[in-house]
Amino acid sequence: MKIHNLMEDIVLDKVHEIFDDDEEGMKNKGYCCCYQCRLDVACFVLNRIQPRYMTSSRGLAHLRTEYQTNLQKTADLVAMINDGIKTVSATKRPHYSHSGSEKSPVPEGPLYNFPTVMGRLLNGNTFEPMKDIDVYLQMNGETVEMIDPSWQNPYRMIDKTAGTYLFWPHPVPANSPRMSRVFEFELEIDENGYEELHHFFELDLRAETTFNDSFHMQRTYKLEDLYLFPK
Ligand SMILES: [Zn+2]
Repeated sequence: MKIHNLMEDIVLDKVHEIFDDDEEGMKNKGYCCCYQCRLDVACFVLNRIQPRYMTSSRGLAHLRTEYQTNLQKTADLVAMINDGIKTVSATKRPHYSHSGSEKSPVPEGPLYNFPTVMGRLLNGNTFEPMKDIDVYLQMNGETVEMIDPSWQNPYRMIDKTAGTYLFWPHPVPANSPRMSRVFEFELEIDENGYEELHHFFELDLRAETTFNDSFHMQRTYKLEDLYLFPK
């Protein structure tokens, strides 16, 4: 059984509607209309309203009607979205490409969906969380493509992330949904003043029929703590 916050659907629909209705006008006002910025606006709103959880999508039709017929609710939502648009455009994320209003095309199955890959990086001498370090996730000597542009590779470790890095590789096509395959990854850090770090690990995956782009903490692969030693 899947738990779902129905407000996600309501808010995302409305955000896209507002952007699509007057994309030229929005751009003239200096607002970015790219897909990532739209998602950021939706997040801004969703973090400020009451979630409505349901275990199925059956409640959605009902909730949609509620929003279509209740003008006050719609007006409140639109006002909050406009706040979000201003806030997001004032804090444009530097690592987004800010191009394209469409979600990147969903790959057709069957494919191997990767879990998120998470771990901690500590200073080998002091056991303190590392910061201001780039962590690379590689496969066959190449930097692994992430699921969407909001995920970074290399992952820049900063103060706020307290020594934790997180990757989410883009799915890889499979020949058949019944196949399984072992993927060999390498985590690499080559930073001035530290010993190079190469950590190898494998993920044994079974192909799936559809693209999985919803984030689940239980689909996280946790690596052991790694230590970086100053030279
Ligand atoms: Zn943008």
